Amino acid sequence: MVAIGTKGCSREEGWFTDNWSGGLRLSVRVKRVLRDVESAYQHVRVLETEELGRMLVLDGNIQCAEADEAAYHELIVHPGLCRAGAGTGRKKNVLIIGGGDGGAAREALRHEDVGRVDLVDIDPEVTRAARELLPGIWRSPRGGALHEDTRLQIRNEDGLRFLEEAAEVPAEGYDLIVVDATDPVGPGTILFSDRFYEALRCRIGEHGAVSVQAGSWWFLPDVLRTAYRGLGRVFGMARAYHCWSAVYPGGLWNLVLATLGDDPAEVDRERAEGLLGCRFYDAESHRAAFVLSPDARRALRG
Ligand code: SAM
Repeated sequence: MVAIGTKGCSREEGWFTDNWSGGLRLSVRVKRVLRDVESAYQHVRVLETEELGRMLVLDGNIQCAEADEAAYHELIVHPGLCRAGAGTGRKKNVLIIGGGDGGAAREALRHEDVGRVDLVDIDPEVTRAARELLPGIWRSPRGGALHEDTRLQIRNEDGLRFLEEAAEVPAEGYDLIVVDATDPVGPGTILFSDRFYEALRCRIGEHGAVSVQAGSWWFLPDVLRTAYRGLGRVFGMARAYHCWSAVYPGGLWNLVLATLGDDPAEVDRERAEGLLGCRFYDAESHRAAFVLSPDARRALRG
């Protein structure tokens, strides 16, 4: 997630601060710094915090925290797989671009008819930190660590290159592609381009969908509009929705779900209610997530 204000954070003793904008900050009391490394792509930190459990911070911006991450990861995955137009029958294939903390992969694996999850994050330092230091996130719904789930393949490479080279893409395409990447800064920039959206379009199956992390109608309206318009242009149907968060600016974060024509807000109630272990997702919250305020809709239209 990009620094909405100045980059990075202030270092008041024992506190980590995420600068949301020029006049807003979120400060979190820190018990211990568990990792602090400069990778080839970004500054990677894992913090043990007083109130939110362990937290992943990239380039000074909070990515996820153990206490509330399910709110975001359930909503970026389940609407795409539980929407009425998702299709049924064969085992499903899911691709996650970014998402190196493992939360979105865990939620995709919660579906018993998901036979394959490809997790493609550019930074091995992130997947290593999650595997070693975020046990509350890096776990399989079947029990055990995430990487022990045989349906999961982890690759550390650029998401656009993975899509364009297509060497590992299943012949029938993906049923859901989740783009859980940082905002358009550094390596995340290319993931908000038409070239990337075209590449996504080429890799989804006949009932496929794409869900992307799309910033905030209030704090990052341009990011939201870029994702909404770009996906709408390439796929034909795109709808913005939202999820709650304790750590993202303003407490409400936007996502976009694009399909080849079916309405993303229409839910397969039986499938949604059959998902075990969700804290924030069910058929009611699926529908409610797509109801935006008038101001948010105005921001979407720009
Ligand atoms: N939920 C967070 C948010 O809303 O910002 C994103 C969390 S996830 C940790 C973001 C991941 O995107 C990072 O691990 C980063 O390495 C990855 N990433 C950034 N650019 C990428 C690219 N071009 N290809 C693959 N992964 C990328």
